[in-house]
Amino acid sequence: MNGKKAVLSLGLLLVILSLLVQNSSSKSLFHHEKVHLRKSQVSTKDISCIGCVLIVSIVEQLAQVHNSSTERAMELLCSYLPEKEGLRGVCLLIVDLFGPEIVRLLNYRLNADVICHTIKLCKSDSHQPLCHLYKEPKVGLRKSIKQAERLLQKSEYSIRKTTEVVSSILFKVCSLPVFKKICDAIASSEPAEDFDQDNFSMFPSLRGYHWRGRDCNDFDKSVYPGRRPEDWDALRDSNCNGIWGFDQKDGVPYEKKFCEGTDAKGIVVLGDSAAAHFHIPPAWVTPAQYSKDTFTNLALAISNEFDWPQFSMCTGFQNSTIGGWTQSLYLKLRDRNRCNHRDYQNISRNGGSSDNLKKYLRSLARNQETDKPLVVFYGLIGNDVCNSHADTIRHMTTPGEMKADVMDDLQYLDTHLPNGSNVILMSLADGRFLWDTLHDRYHPIGQLNKDITYAQFYDFLSCLSINPCVGWMNKNETLRNLTTERAEQLSKVLQDIAASKTFAHFELHYYENLYQKVIAKWESLGRNPWELLEPVDGFHPDQVASAVGADLVWDEAMQTWPSLFGKENPFNKEIIAIFGDQGGH
Ligand code: CA
Ligand code: CA
Ligand code: CA
Repeated sequence: MNGKKAVLSLGLLLVILSLLVQNSSSKSLFHHEKVHLRKSQVSTKDISCIGCVLIVSIVEQLAQVHNSSTERAMELLCSYLPEKEGLRGVCLLIVDLFGPEIVRLLNYRLNADVICHTIKLCKSDSHQPLCHLYKEPKVGLRKSIKQAERLLQKSEYSIRKTTEVVSSILFKVCSLPVFKKICDAIASSEPAEDFDQDNFSMFPSLRGYHWRGRDCNDFDKSVYPGRRPEDWDALRDSNCNGIWGFDQKDGVPYEKKFCEGTDAKGIVVLGDSAAAHFHIPPAWVTPAQYSKDTFTNLALAISNEFDWPQFSMCTGFQNSTIGGWTQSLYLKLRDRNRCNHRDYQNISRNGGSSDNLKKYLRSLARNQETDKPLVVFYGLIGNDVCNSHADTIRHMTTPGEMKADVMDDLQYLDTHLPNGSNVILMSLADGRFLWDTLHDRYHPIGQLNKDITYAQFYDFLSCLSINPCVGWMNKNETLRNLTTERAEQLSKVLQDIAASKTFAHFELHYYENLYQKVIAKWESLGRNPWELLEPVDGFHPDQVASAVGADLVWDEAMQTWPSLFGKENPFNKEIIAIFGDQGGH
C-alpha cells in the first residue's frame, strides 16, 4: 500500500467524532442554530482537534508497536481500512493534506497535542486555555508549540487554512455514497430515515430492519409487521410474522389457529443513544491490535449512526458481534408468543431527550384501528441532564419542562396506540457511576503507554466543549452530585405522572433504577463494574449492561405487571414445527 491509505482513517475518525459529538447534543454540528452556536460554539474545529489528536496518537503507537518510521506507520494505518465504499480516497486526501507536517513533527518526538496545535487543527487562542489530552510537556504546552512552529517554518512548510482544509475533507466524505444520507440528515438536522410509505424496510441499516421489523413486502403498504392479520393471512403474510396459509386437513388458516386470542403485541422503545445502543469499537482506537478485520464493520456502523439497535436491550435480535451477548425484551416477547415475530420498533436517537423526542416520536408506525397493542418503553436515561455546556446546570431540563414535554408525548401516544397498550416510563440513570468507575482507569488510546486516563479524556472533551455530559463526566464532585440531584427530580416527575394520570388507550407504569440494578447484579456475580461501560466514549452502557438489563427488566415486569407482555402462546411449538425460523429477521 502506498502512503495514501493513511489518510483514510483520519477522515473516518473525523466523521466518527463528529457523530460522537452529535450524540452529545440534540442540535447538529452543521446546523447553525443560533442558540446553539451562541451557547457552546461547537464547531468542526473542536471535532478536528480531537480527530487529529486521536489519529496522530494512533500513528505514533503504530510506529512504536511495529518499530517503524512514521511514514510507514501512516501507510499501515491506511492499509487497515476496507477497500470498498470509497473511504480510502478520503484517507488519501487527508494524508496528502496533513501527512508531511505530521510526519515531520512526529520525527521530532512531539506529542499529539503539540502537533495538532501546531498544524492548527486544535485552536490556540492566546486568551483561552489550550486543550490537551496528554500531560503537558515539561517546558509547557505553549512553549512547545512555539518551538514546533519554528521547526515547521524552517522547513518552509506553510500551515494551510485549516478551516478550508477541514471543509474540503468533509465535502469529500459527504460525497461518498455511504456517508451521503448521513451528511444530508445532519445538514437538515433531521435524522437519516429511509423508509417508504409504511415506515418498514427490507434493508438493514439506515433505519431499516435493524431498527424495526423487516417488511416482507416493500411494495405494499398494507403489509407490515404489527398489524392484525388480513383475512387471517390465509393467502399471504400481511403482518410479516412468518405465519400464513391454512391447514389442509381442516381448512383453517394457521394465523387463526395459532394466534387468535393469544394476546399478541409488539414492543417499542422511545429513547436516546443508550436505547439505540451507541458503540464505537475499542479495536478502532487500539493500534497494537489492528488487523485487516478491524474496520470491516465501519461502513455498517456509519450507516446506523454508530448505533447497534440489532443487539440492543429492548429490540435486539441478532447475536452480538461487538462483545458480550444479545438478550432483549423483544426476543423474550417473541419466545413467549411466536405470533409477535418481527413486531419491534426502536424509535431512538443519539441525543434524544424529553425536549426533542416529540420530533421523532412521529415516526412511530402504528395504526390505532388495524394494528395490535404495544408495550412502549419511554427510556431517556440522561440527556435531560447531560449536555456539553460549561454552565451545564443552566441547560438541564427543569421538572416543569419535563412534566409538560412528557405529558405532550403521552397525549400523542394516546391518539396513536391501539387499545390495550402499555407505556413504561423509565427513570433517569445515576451517572456518578461513570466517574467513580472510570476516572483513574486508562482510556483505550492510553493503554499502550499508560498515559491517558478517563479523567484526562473527560477534561479534554470539556475543554473542546464536546463533553457529552459535563455534569457527570467531571472531576468536580459537587457538580456530579448536583447533576444526580436534578436527574432524581426529573425521575420523580415521571413517577408522579405514572401514579396520577390515566389515558384511554394504554396503562401507564414507572420503572426505576435500571442501571443500579444491573450494576448490583453484575457485582453479585463477582464481576467488575467497568465491564458495563463503553470503553471509547466512557459514557454509554455497553453490550453486557444491555443484556443483563433485559433479563432484569423482564423478570421484574413479570412479577409487577404479570399481564404486561401477554400470555404464553400454547402453540409456539407447532408454529416452530411448521414455520421454522418464520423467515428470520
Ligand atoms: Ca416498506
Ligand atoms: Ca410493506
Ligand atoms: Ca402472519
